[in-house]
Amino acid sequence: MNFAFVSGNPALDLAGTVVSRRDEPVDLLAAPADLERWVAECDELPDRVTADFAAFESALSLREAIYRLALDRVLDRPFDPGSLKIVNDTATGPVPVIKLSDAGLHIAGDLLAVLTHTARSGIAVLADPHACLKECGRTDCTRIYLDRSRGARRTWCGMDECGNRVKAAAYRARRRASTTAEGRGPGGTTGRGGGSSGPH
Ligand SMILES: [Zn+2]
Repeated sequence: MNFAFVSGNPALDLAGTVVSRRDEPVDLLAAPADLERWVAECDELPDRVTADFAAFESALSLREAIYRLALDRVLDRPFDPGSLKIVNDTATGPVPVIKLSDAGLHIAGDLLAVLTHTARSGIAVLADPHACLKECGRTDCTRIYLDRSRGARRTWCGMDECGNRVKAAAYRARRRASTTAEGRGPGGTTGRGGGSSGPH
């Protein structure tokens, strides 16, 4: 499964690396190499970092703390103190170094800097009273995203990830329902003699 960067914030995207959290959770960060790939694919983070096992464990702990706080925010309940401590402590570390050139933006830093930046991004969005955090409308998804759309009318974390899947499933269900209805319909009733056009 590919990583999705649809949450509008790297901290929420990190939290989204566990999908289907309530039913059958799938962890997309199974090993340090997965974390290295996630960092490389995230636009706001350095292109290349190495993750040892201790740093990997810190990243997972930060991820779960961010998810818990985001869920607290979605459910409009007080933040979990243990998760607050993890995120706040991580945010005190060194930040990535950014440099502008004709080639564009260059971001440098190690995994510690990556986690600091991610924690700070998480704090910024969780502290913003105007940030509209939502859980994806597809029940199995459980991804939390920042809805920046006008009037906050977004329903899905992403169209490719969930919106199109839900729409395709609804379309298939409608097709099935109408096929069944045709099968049972007046055309399929008895008494026409030949019966070659019957449903069976
Ligand atoms: Zn989703």
